[in-house]
Amino acid sequence: MFCCVKLREIVYLDYAATTPCDSRVLEEMLPYFCDIFGNPNSMHHFGVTALDAVDAARIKVKTLINANFEEVVFTSGATEANKIATIRVMKALRKSAGKQCFITLATEHKSVLDCADYLKRDGVDVELLPVGTDGLLDLNLLADSVKDTTGLLSFCLVNNETGAKQDAKKITEICHERGVLVHTDATQAFGKIQLDVKELGVDFLSASGHKIYGPKGVGVLYCESANARFVRTPGANRDVEFGIRSGTVPIPVCVGMGKAAELALSELSQNLAHVQTLRNRFISGITGQLDEIYINGSPEHNYPGIVNISFRGCEGEAIMMEAKHIAVSSGSACTSNKLTISHALAAMNIPADIAQSSIRTSIGKQTTEAEIDLAIDELVTATKKLRAISPIWDIIQSGSSVDDVFKRRGFQ
Ligand code: PMP
Repeated sequence: MFCCVKLREIVYLDYAATTPCDSRVLEEMLPYFCDIFGNPNSMHHFGVTALDAVDAARIKVKTLINANFEEVVFTSGATEANKIATIRVMKALRKSAGKQCFITLATEHKSVLDCADYLKRDGVDVELLPVGTDGLLDLNLLADSVKDTTGLLSFCLVNNETGAKQDAKKITEICHERGVLVHTDATQAFGKIQLDVKELGVDFLSASGHKIYGPKGVGVLYCESANARFVRTPGANRDVEFGIRSGTVPIPVCVGMGKAAELALSELSQNLAHVQTLRNRFISGITGQLDEIYINGSPEHNYPGIVNISFRGCEGEAIMMEAKHIAVSSGSACTSNKLTISHALAAMNIPADIAQSSIRTSIGKQTTEAEIDLAIDELVTATKKLRAISPIWDIIQSGSSVDDVFKRRGFQ
């Protein structure tokens, strides 16, 4: 694809989408491609050496989240972990306990919403709970929504679009008091904020390697020991991932996941403080120069590395095209001539004109102050330029409502 800006001149602010592999992770993985290549299922020396490497990686992951060794299952990523923890658990609960209802949030990642769709088509009673304008789940609503037939709740711990962080401990307490199992998609939280599965009490948790400077193609499913029976595959070899996953374990990426988890743990507070400082610099740099800027998500309960920001009067995609030297994600999309806004922002009841002007920026451990300053300059310049030619901005400036305009333009 033709690109007029050289890649190395672009500031990467999309760490919630993926992260580069840490060179220390790559170094740890390399011997496992050619030198230590055995199949961990083999009984001979090659197999045992490979199994030792997978065990060592599992120990590093379990230490990061305070799980037990046999509660950590390697998967191909968070998508697969989400699928196992929702579809398989619901199927098992339906069969064993007649539980017919699955609850999740309207703001979930697509990988969970897809599972909810599948379950619905399979006859499960699926409930998508709305959230507040800050992206947080109302705990009273949760308590009222749980029925006798509810088997499982799945919620995203840190939302991938807004960074809003749910109160996992309280959510789990409410569910457990009512006999409901809990899965959390912790993909954007794992290795970034302190996580203790025993303290949170969750039954299942999903995570991914490539969001924490590990390799792509590997993730983790935490299954609390007593509930592992709900996710075992009938006929699977109990020696492979405790009967939860089949096939040959991909050793290099598991080793990489282990190393990434180890590094995440040792650098967690330092990285968290770093992204918090840069978030503050970024937000104040923008709001100091522009009016009508909105930060979508919870100001108090969030992971600071994700900043969903609306530049009212401009379309998110237009900003992305104008600000060529930064790589961010858009909250809106233009498909088949129809403008749609992010399902997450829509579920938060963010007004359409604010939602469609949003971009998601995400800060990582490698982000520098200079990069943030460059992003501020690019975004301020882009916004001024776009607002100067924006009829929506004129309407906003005149104090009139833009709701009608947006309805007529077919925003969903
Ligand atoms: N859940 C969330 C919240 C995510 O952000 C992502 C990645 N975008 C996933 C699940 C899927 O992760 P993976 O790429 O490891 O399948």
